[in-house]
Amino acid sequence: MPPRTAVFFHAHPDDEALLTAGTMAMLAAEGHRVVLVVATAGERGLAEMEPGEALGETRLKELYKSAALLGCARVECLGYGDSGLSPKGGSAEERPDNAFIDADTEAAAKALAAILQEERADLLAIYDPAGGYGHPDHVQVHRVGKRAAKIAGTEIVLEATVNRDPLLWLLRVAGRFYKFPPEFDVRTFESAYSPGEAITHRVNVRRYTRQKRSSMAAHASQASGGDSDRTLAVMLKVPRPLYRFVFGTEWYVRRDLPPGARLTHPFDRWPT
Ligand SMILES: [Zn+2]
Repeated sequence: MPPRTAVFFHAHPDDEALLTAGTMAMLAAEGHRVVLVVATAGERGLAEMEPGEALGETRLKELYKSAALLGCARVECLGYGDSGLSPKGGSAEERPDNAFIDADTEAAAKALAAILQEERADLLAIYDPAGGYGHPDHVQVHRVGKRAAKIAGTEIVLEATVNRDPLLWLLRVAGRFYKFPPEFDVRTFESAYSPGEAITHRVNVRRYTRQKRSSMAAHASQASGGDSDRTLAVMLKVPRPLYRFVFGTEWYVRRDLPPGARLTHPFDRWPT
């Protein structure tokens, strides 16, 4: 396969580690050009540091470290404001002026499309329409990414997701040795991400779980500190053998393929 270019578009630093790190490391190891774009610096993320510019700088540094571990050739931040922590993105008064969820979709899409065109990207990875677990910045990644691919004429659009069937199983297992805080409700995941039958790509990334774990660990500001319910902290507590098993697959939905398509590599053609 001749080297191709894949752009991964994420909302915040650390999202790449959770959803697509194994695929990114795999593509880079195969000689493809991997580009990471985030919409925001994640300056209102969960950390011991106060939300703000300094946290954004710390999180971008963590992002560069993660990207280097995964073999990315380029990292860009579109510079939108992190819409905030609450599941609804915070009230309008709480949000920064340039919050990503308030951004003009067309303008944001053009900024991303410019990178896709410059890179002559063959593939763009975004999120599913629900934005995974529903963070508004993630829903916006879907909208902006879809439009950007259209503007740039990017051939392959993959929606990064999670097969919710094993995820629910993991959360129930994790619940046995890790005490989730009361506000963490496993049942909310019953409608998050995608059911197994909707998934078109199951990418085996077991060979890259070491990089994936290092990428998660690079986001230290999100994995340690006060609150105990952050996703990364939970994920990093998963024992290594189980981690390899649970995080050994990454899932995508490609909407232009017929139902029932089952592929194992982002650049696979259908029918195979
Ligand atoms: Zn995020």
